Order: sequence, then structure tokens, then C-alpha cells
Amino acid sequence: MLRIGAIEAGGTKFVCGIGNDSGVIEDQISFPTERPEQTLEKVINYFTDKNVAAIGIGSFGPINVDPNSPTYGYVTTTPKPGWANYDFLGTLKQVFDVPFGWDTDVNAAAFGEAKWGAAQGLDSCVYYTIGTGIGVGVYMEGRLVHGLVHPEGGHVLVRRHKEDPFEGICTYHGDCFEGLAAGPAIEKRWHLKGNELPADHPAWDLEAYYIAQSISSTILMLSPKIVILGGGVMHQKQLFPMIRSYVQRNLNGYINTTALLEDINSYIVAPGLGNNAGLCGALALGVEALVRFNESRR
Ligand code: ADP
Ligand code: ZN
Repeated sequence: MLRIGAIEAGGTKFVCGIGNDSGVIEDQISFPTERPEQTLEKVINYFTDKNVAAIGIGSFGPINVDPNSPTYGYVTTTPKPGWANYDFLGTLKQVFDVPFGWDTDVNAAAFGEAKWGAAQGLDSCVYYTIGTGIGVGVYMEGRLVHGLVHPEGGHVLVRRHKEDPFEGICTYHGDCFEGLAAGPAIEKRWHLKGNELPADHPAWDLEAYYIAQSISSTILMLSPKIVILGGGVMHQKQLFPMIRSYVQRNLNGYINTTALLEDINSYIVAPGLGNNAGLCGALALGVEALVRFNESRR
């Protein structure tokens, strides 16, 4: 059985694991994200002697995913100490002589969901993580989308609710989607952490209002076959029906398809891979890297 390495590189914590090409994780460890030297030393220690055939990395970002760029594999503009302009992929490539998969954490999760999760059998999906930040991964026509850089759907502009005076906390944009709706924005607006707010608190209606705006735009722009919502904030399961209902209201019947009009419960969904979406996504990138490598040698 193949052993593939997977790295879910988050801004708060790293998860490293070993899995196989069926999406089964056999072993994993997790540690807090520190400066890159300390963090990657732990990563290297974990994979040394594990005999992996490939490694997939889903990373926090922004990152460089353009294979033709001299800074491919770098983390680019993050405020995280030590990580800006850091050659993440290159550092690991110097140690492990195996094919590497490399993409954003959310593109990885979208890919994992398409291979083994809620979007299995579909050739498109959009994956949201709504946590410390908001990220959006895009898988379209059977491949991950990068475009100019890579999608940064957390920072789209949304229309502020007329009864929401909160100015938002995005350091770049103030009241962009992430600035209004990520976990830290909820905490700052309501003076309680998300998990401390009761399920019937008005915070959740407002949260659903913003999430639904972004999803409505995504549906109009990209027309994905399914929308998957993960991340800590989405542990609030009552958000799902509220979001679905706002999306239907926003679109107002314009997109005339049963997926949106009748089957929206199976169109806007939680990750099929649950809390493993990120790590399984990285695993999927590793599997893909190995397949490509083997094809290129034929
Ligand atoms: P990260 O984004 O750092 O990878 P998470 O996806 O767990 O990690 O997101 C963390 C954010 O989600 C925090 O802002 C936290 O307050 C919020 N959060 C975590 N659990 C819950 C919960 N059960 N309900 C609401 N918000 C939550
Ligand atoms: Zn922003």
C-alpha cells in the first residue's frame, strides 16, 4: 500500500499525517504554528523515516502557486512573523526527494472533498472555511483554479446589513466579508467568542446574511455544482438553514435549477470529510503529485 504524506499548514496550527491513495489517514500529529524554522523542523522530524512516496501541502497564504515563478512554493505577504517571503516548499524539497503537491489550504480541501467527500463524482465545487480567517477554494471543470494568483474569496466586498454598525476588522479592507464575518469579527462585535454565543443569538442571523451574500455571488460568478462550508464557525449547525434561505432570497428564483430551488439542503453542505477535510485535501494533493510524476516518466 502506498504511503503518502500530508501537511495541513494553518496559520494557527500544523497537522501532518500519513495516508493512502484511498483517502484514509493512518497517522497524524499536530502542533502550533511558530516561526518557520521551528515549525518545519517538526515537520521534517515527523516525515523522516516514514518512507512516503509523495507529500501534499495545503498551506495558509497567500502563497505562490505558479510553477513558472522563481518564487513558486513561497508564502508571500502574510503578517505571521518569519513567514512572509519564506520558501516553504523549497525547504522541504531539499530534505525529501519525492514529488510534492502544493496549493492553498482551501484549494486542497476543495480537492479532497471532490475526490473523497461531499463533492465526490462532481467536476466542480467551492469550499469555504469560515474560521480565524475566511478562505475559498475553487475546483472547476475537474481542476483547481489559480488564475492570476489564486482565489481570495474571503476578501470580497459584501453589502453591510443596515442595522450592523460594526466597522469590520480586515487590516486591508475593514468591512470586507472576512472583516465582518470571520470568527474574530464575531468575537469583537459581540464581545463573546463564537462558541460562547447561544444558538438563537442574533449574531447568527447576521452571520448567515453575510455568508449567504458571498455564496450568492459565487453561484452567479462560477456556477459550482456544490458549495461546502467548513471551519470553526460552521460548527454552529443552525447557520446552514439560515444561509440556504438567504441564498434563495438573494437569487430570487433567477437561477432556475432544482439544486437551488428544491434540493438546496444537498447543495449547501458541511464537509463530507468533516474535520479531516484539510488534511485529506493535502493527502489528495500528494496522491495527485505522485500520479503526475509517474505519468511524466512514462
Ligand atoms: P483556523 O481558522 O485557525 O484554522 P478554526 O477553523 O477552528 O481554526 O476557526 C477558529 C475560529 O472559529 C475562532 O475565531 C473561533 O472563535 C471560531 N469557532 C470555533 N469553534 C466555534 C464554534 N463552535 N462556534 C462558533 N465559532 C467557533
Ligand atoms: Zn479583507
